[in-house]
Amino acid sequence: MDFFDTLPDGERPWYVSKLNDIRELPESELPPGVTYGIEYQTVLINVPKYLSYLKDKFTSMGGTIEQRALEHIEEALIFGGVSSNGPNDKTPIVVNCAALGNRILGGVCDAGMRPVRGQTLIVNAPEAKRSITRLGSQFGYVIPRGDGTVVLGGSTEVGSWDEDENRELTQQILQRTLSLEPALLPSSMRELDASERVRELQANIISVGVGFRPMREGGVRLETQEYVDSVSGKPFVAVHCYGHAGFGYQTSLSYALKVQQLVESAKVSN
Ligand SMILES: Cc1cc2nc3c(=O)[nH]c(=O)nc-3n(C[C@H](O)[C@H](O)[C@H](O)COP(=O)(O)OP(=O)(O)OC[C@H]3O[C@@H](n4cnc5c(N)ncnc54)[C@H](O)[C@@H]3O)c2cc1C
Repeated sequence: MDFFDTLPDGERPWYVSKLNDIRELPESELPPGVTYGIEYQTVLINVPKYLSYLKDKFTSMGGTIEQRALEHIEEALIFGGVSSNGPNDKTPIVVNCAALGNRILGGVCDAGMRPVRGQTLIVNAPEAKRSITRLGSQFGYVIPRGDGTVVLGGSTEVGSWDEDENRELTQQILQRTLSLEPALLPSSMRELDASERVRELQANIISVGVGFRPMREGGVRLETQEYVDSVSGKPFVAVHCYGHAGFGYQTSLSYALKVQQLVESAKVSN
């Protein structure tokens, strides 16, 4: 379910026309302060499971993973035995998905990258089954993960690198999400007063997380760039794909396909 305090430019969200079985909610089903709400069926990504699935798929197809911090993009040439110093006469291709790291990655140094801090809570709430987002002044979301745990958010703090929990924000998230989804607490507790309900939900917190969405001024950078390796003097190509802000998981398949196309074109022109 998505709730909007007001619709931007008075227009329905663009995805309304793309989804089947969408229901526009009558006023009687809208929380106070909300002027528009919709209910629909869609895919929900459980991020730890999705990342683990992608990793297994990558390695089962022959991919290998090596973790190393790079200071310059050309250092990527040492991975996988591909080196513009080596006997291989094909121009090496590096795919750059270093997100916020691109602020200071040599050869890229993208000054348009900004963190957008987000604080989330994982709570135990097996009765909550619906994913709900409220956009506007009371921004908040409830995302059940299918295993009895639920992600609660959130915040969007542009430019903040603060890694510590903001306790006031934790309280705000508990209050806002409880007003969106009473089923965060067992039915026996729903008649408690507001502050008691917040205390009960607080007792069910499993963890508090802080993350930094990789936002880029002007939007995602998706393009090919030609480089010359300063060590060997030989050329290499980078396919840049970064700056997905708060939508990197939900758009990951489309961007991966676009990166694949750019890599295939770079191979053809080799
Ligand atoms: C609170 C919060 C809520 C979110 N909600 C959603 C949501 O609802 N839907 C959604 O789709 N997305 C959501 N996101 C956004 C999502 O997390 C990002 O869009 C996504 O992680 C971007 O993926 P990425 O691979 O581009 O970047 P990242 O996940 O940041 O990965 C970049 C990687 O590059 C590595 N790296 C960087 N620099 C270097 C270097 N110099 N050398 C070596 N490695 C380097 C980093 O260590 C990291 O592993 C949310 C994020 C937050 C924080």
